[in-house]
Amino acid sequence: MKRRSFLGKTLIGSLATLIVPKALSASNKPNFSEVIKNEKGPISICTWNFVKANAAAGKALESDLDALSSAIKAAEVEELNDKNTTVGYGGAPDREGNVTLDACVMDHKGDCGSVVAVQNIVHVAALARDVMEKTPHVMLAAEGAESFAKSLGYKQTNLLTEESKESWLEWSKNSKYKPIINIENHDTIGVLCMDKKGNIAGACSTSGLSYKMKGRVGDSSIIGSGLYVDNEIGGAVATGMGEEIIKTVGSFLIVELMRQGYSPQDACDEAIQRIIRKQGEHVDFQVAYIALDKQGRVGSSSIHKGFTYMKYQNGENKNIEVNNFINS
Ligand code: ASP
Repeated sequence: MKRRSFLGKTLIGSLATLIVPKALSASNKPNFSEVIKNEKGPISICTWNFVKANAAAGKALESDLDALSSAIKAAEVEELNDKNTTVGYGGAPDREGNVTLDACVMDHKGDCGSVVAVQNIVHVAALARDVMEKTPHVMLAAEGAESFAKSLGYKQTNLLTEESKESWLEWSKNSKYKPIINIENHDTIGVLCMDKKGNIAGACSTSGLSYKMKGRVGDSSIIGSGLYVDNEIGGAVATGMGEEIIKTVGSFLIVELMRQGYSPQDACDEAIQRIIRKQGEHVDFQVAYIALDKQGRVGSSSIHKGFTYMKYQNGENKNIEVNNFINS
């Protein structure tokens, strides 16, 4: 029986049996001195059906660009895409009409940078890299991040498009604030790249929850939650309800599970099941993860149906359907 239909038939009744953590025996623990770097060519994976973004990263890797610069190239495509209402320019505003962006990056050396609640700057993943490389800090917020961006010559752009403004004005007639992320309304870009040298790095960029409270920050700028990379093991990135990803420190959890010997797929499944275990059977929000390990293996898992991810390798850019645990 296919895993998906098996889960559909048995999930609620036997949730307990599905979510028993996998025990690791000494024999399935990897010996890292033996971990070989991926020999099948560089890989880029990203959340959702971001064909152009992932192709941009994949081609950059093929032309010898390093993993971090390639991941940022993918993020930049969606940051400029005015039709994506969850990233960059055209992102949905907070309840007061301000578009505020969160982003982070992590490289193969374990260095990282992050920006939160940034207004008027499109390329926040690149800005997060600048925080990492040009300041003694990891994280800069709001006006501080914006003045840093100005000092580096980043262009000032009004991120609120006419279309997003109209949707927000329509929403504000009732101003119903229900911070639920369902499968239709989130498109954060999270990217993981492995370059020709076998180094892994990642980037994550979002405008967060539509009509969020002013000052709300999600998982996408929190190292360990929205993104985590350990070049010895692999990396993971998240999309979906940031509050729940933060509570379980999801991306760090996945990388640590891979360190213990879980495959990327099993590690993503376990991170999703941790959320389901805490919430019971009435999980009405979406969370999804993608992961890549040092051997070039990929995994992905989501709470609800509807999440897909992209994988680019050897000139092929594929959209891949993902395991989900609740069929509703
Ligand atoms: N994870 C993002 C956040 O909570 C939202 C998303 O993935 O769409 O800010």
